[in-house]
Amino acid sequence: MIVVLAKDISPHDKDIVRSFLKDHGHDAREQAFGDDILLSSSGKAPIDIHELSLLPGIERVAAVSKPYELASRETKSEDSIVSVGPVKIGGARITVIAGPCAVESRQQIHEIAALVRESGAVILRGGAFKPRTSPYAFQGLGLKGLEYMKEAGEACGMPIVTEVISAESAVLMKDLTDMFQIGARNMQNFDLLRKIAALGKPVLLKRGPSATMEEWLLSAEYLLSGGTKDVVLCERGIRTFETYTRNTLDISAIPVVKGLSHLPVIVDPSHAIGIRSHVSPASLAAVAVGADGLAIEVHNDPDKALSDGPQSLYPEQFEKLMRDIEAFVPVVGKELMRLPKGRKKDGEGGVGKDSDAWSTAFSLVGEKIAFSGRSGAFAERALINAFGEETPRLPVQTFAGVFDAVLDGSALFGVIPIENSLAGSVHENYDLFLRYPDIAIVGEIKLRIVHCLMASEKTSIEQIKSVRSHPQGFAQCREFLDKHPDWNLEIWSTTADAVQSIAKAGDAALTVAAIASEAAAKAHKLKILKAGIENNPQNYTRFVIISRKQDGEKQFVPPALEGAEPDKASLVFSVKHEPGSLIRCLQILSGEGINLSKLESRPILGQPWNYMFYIDVSIPREKLIFERALQQLKTHSDNFHFLGAYRGA
Ligand code: PEP
Ligand code: MN
Repeated sequence: MIVVLAKDISPHDKDIVRSFLKDHGHDAREQAFGDDILLSSSGKAPIDIHELSLLPGIERVAAVSKPYELASRETKSEDSIVSVGPVKIGGARITVIAGPCAVESRQQIHEIAALVRESGAVILRGGAFKPRTSPYAFQGLGLKGLEYMKEAGEACGMPIVTEVISAESAVLMKDLTDMFQIGARNMQNFDLLRKIAALGKPVLLKRGPSATMEEWLLSAEYLLSGGTKDVVLCERGIRTFETYTRNTLDISAIPVVKGLSHLPVIVDPSHAIGIRSHVSPASLAAVAVGADGLAIEVHNDPDKALSDGPQSLYPEQFEKLMRDIEAFVPVVGKELMRLPKGRKKDGEGGVGKDSDAWSTAFSLVGEKIAFSGRSGAFAERALINAFGEETPRLPVQTFAGVFDAVLDGSALFGVIPIENSLAGSVHENYDLFLRYPDIAIVGEIKLRIVHCLMASEKTSIEQIKSVRSHPQGFAQCREFLDKHPDWNLEIWSTTADAVQSIAKAGDAALTVAAIASEAAAKAHKLKILKAGIENNPQNYTRFVIISRKQDGEKQFVPPALEGAEPDKASLVFSVKHEPGSLIRCLQILSGEGINLSKLESRPILGQPWNYMFYIDVSIPREKLIFERALQQLKTHSDNFHFLGAYRGA
């Protein structure tokens, strides 16, 4: 049983809790767990949890049936998010760790670090102390190798993870690495686990080749109870009777362990399979089954690698895999963890030497991001995917409210939907850009939308008389709704508002359902009657991130996109009412070889039968070509507005 104490519990109240437990024959151990203080108690006699939770200074009591208390979901129901410098693992993102099996030379680690970073890896891996099956095999460069790796990580702005094999070397490694890896062979080296835990650094805990999931979680418990706040589990294949592959990737362990524990789980397909050509498909399978990230071996010259060459990807294979992962992550409702491109110089407060510099560069301290709707709105999920769970959020009632909040400075950024792959453009937001000329588009987010029909716990689908949602929700679920022609459709300003109205009404709304996200159902404790009711599972919404235009200064961009070269731009203009005026504008673009990805026309308010044209274009590598095209467009069109240049999703 876990007793979570209130942060401000007095010593006197704590004594009362301790005596209560003692009087009931329980031993209580006090331990820190993240920012919480816990009393973990065990004893044979039953305890009335309700009675215990009424004692002063107690926040919550959880009956934990598992032997791994701190790692258990019973103790903490929400996903833990681990920070390694600026990189986060867990929650709504996929984090990719990549690098060679071993650091072989200064040049090798610098070269491969730059290559994996360019392709999108966010943590550099590499062994300096190698646990090898044979005593004659390459054992790693030791501390020297780790120094090279730290340098390489710093040079391209990536934190590093490296394996620790002994408590003595751990002390020397502590200031050189951002995360310790406990290798598969050491998963049950309890003395090592205790010593590493005491150092308090994030730990990547590999699963032992013959360890059960429970043994793996108990090893995590050693770390959590010994002082490590941040533990990431890594499935790397287990020993089975199969010999064709190096190990057997236990893909089923991922959803099971994620159900049992709040800790992030990543997958190392390289050591699991041991065969290069199967690493990429297994990586996608891991993401599909719910892994929070991947650790992949990549070598600049695998054929000459000193260890694990046959399972190491060539850099170009890794680049292709990253592109596939990027295309795939919206399907599982996640975002690929990215770091700003390029390294800032030390002292600039950017990606620098220590994690303090990192944390200030990456957190928008106290800055809010506005979205329309309530908790559980799709826009909120898009916001979390782009900015992280901890970013303060400002829910406002309308789309115009998001523009207002950004304009008056109550939010630094806003997130608004602009287009859905099934229902088309969100015209209101296109029109708002003209009403708010000081607002620019600075980023784009693509989110897969899965709609659910939800209602009160007591409601069954047969009882439903009316359904509430946003018009986009109805449009995207048209085919499902057509099967229920007797349902009355009630339009609400956002899907999350529709859900809240039912939750608030309680028993007064037993014949009403809503169409919204699974997250909205959870947030408002409604029952999902049917999940996945959108017309087609390929249902994506494109959101844009908006910010106030900065006069003459650098435009604010979301931290994860800082330094990223914009590759997409949005423009709006009208043309004269004469033959060929639109085609002339489009010819300017085709003449410069600029790709048009979207063209949309909207009526101009107060000028019947006159239209504004909204276009999205790719920005060519040669910036001068783009500038020249914009100049020509300005002269050949009317009411030209440049909405923003940004990184396309
Ligand atoms: C490694 O990651 O380099 C390694 C040795 O892995 P494992 O401990 O999973 O064998
Ligand atoms: Mn290896």
